[in-house]
Amino acid sequence: MNKLADDCFNQVEDLMTTARALEIMRQSIVTVTRDRLESVPLHQALGRILAEDVTAGLDAPPHDNSAVDGYALRHGDLAANGPTALSIQGRSAAGQPFERPLADGQTVRIFTGAVMPQGADTVVMQEDVSATAHAITLPPGLKLGANRRLRGEDTKRGDVVLQRGQRLRPQDLGLAASVGRGELTLYRRLRVGVFSTGDELAEPGAPGAPLPSGAVYDANRYILAALVRGLVAAVSDLGILPDNAAAVRDGLGAAAADHDLLLTSGGVSVGEGDHVRGAVEALGHLNFWKVAIKPGRPLALGQIGDAAFVGLPGNPVAAMVCYLRFARPLILGLAGASDLDPVLYRVTSGFDYEKKPGRREWLRARLEQGENGAPCAVLYRPQGSGIINSLVRTHGLVEIGEDVTKITAGEAVDFLPYDEVAT
Ligand code: AMP
Ligand code: MG
Repeated sequence: MNKLADDCFNQVEDLMTTARALEIMRQSIVTVTRDRLESVPLHQALGRILAEDVTAGLDAPPHDNSAVDGYALRHGDLAANGPTALSIQGRSAAGQPFERPLADGQTVRIFTGAVMPQGADTVVMQEDVSATAHAITLPPGLKLGANRRLRGEDTKRGDVVLQRGQRLRPQDLGLAASVGRGELTLYRRLRVGVFSTGDELAEPGAPGAPLPSGAVYDANRYILAALVRGLVAAVSDLGILPDNAAAVRDGLGAAAADHDLLLTSGGVSVGEGDHVRGAVEALGHLNFWKVAIKPGRPLALGQIGDAAFVGLPGNPVAAMVCYLRFARPLILGLAGASDLDPVLYRVTSGFDYEKKPGRREWLRARLEQGENGAPCAVLYRPQGSGIINSLVRTHGLVEIGEDVTKITAGEAVDFLPYDEVAT
């Protein structure tokens, strides 16, 4: 007797694995943003992708300097077993060096970041001395080189401090600045067009409320456009395509001409109203469209002219999960980034769970502090792929591999925090 499928994820036979889909995607990536490199001032470079190796043209710090406010001295002057008195010769402040060398028995008042006077090799903290206007006395026991920072201890001249393909974080900009670079050569921004699809979709805030019968508000475009913007790509919000074959084909065809990547959600399955796949096949080609994942499954990768194409599922949770795990690395790769995969963290499962083998699953979970202080993943309920609250009231995704069929509370699971992939 035939049994009706009570789970739309029952049939997994002809579905591609996540690993294979990511591999195909990776093989298809060429940096499309190579065609126009831009020299960009540091303050506009955050989140952008570096198109050059940055080599330090000088040592940083450029001179030995003091790590504290105190007195610079020659370690050889210090008595091993009793106090030492030294005469104060002047001061070395940050940006205002003391220009004379230090002779035996001499010291110089020095401040944090100030250049070490010639001959001085050690600094005593001001709290550790008794001082008059002209001399200090310090106790024994100060180590050679104490409180001194060496020239080049951060970066040596000739070091490659930043590498091509890196996405620039605030600290990367600081490192570039520390070796004197005011501008960096970057890949141009990737141009990404975002469509929603579906006759049922209405624009929030549009005049004509209340919501027409049968309509739902378009949530996906707001999630997806914001995520793409977080990658510092140039996003075009291309609106909602109706469930009409010609309109979908015309919309995608026109947008392919001036974008590097087109991102759609919905309309990629096998329903009568699903025209996205047909349009991509007519305009270009489709690499795959069915992946063994939950949520998701109808997830398409293709090419239209020079533009890459990713068709995300329509349900908002599925759209976001598939974006984070599949579209995001593609966007980064096309834009020139070399590090595409997000880091997953091991956390303790706070739940029992059973799943079918053969597909990869992502569950939305909050992180709470577990018994031993380590983070523990607590599932949000319900987990439906239309439950946007499951994305909002959680910290990230528990990722469960194809082979796993059962998770027991207390075991370790992989966790992808949204913060890891939000930008
Ligand atoms: P589809 O893949 O087009 O069949 O869509 C699957 C489900 O996702 C349907 O319930 C759609 O109404 C819903 N959906 C599709 N696109 C969106 C969107 N942009 N915002 C909110 N829900 C959507
Ligand atoms: Mg639809």
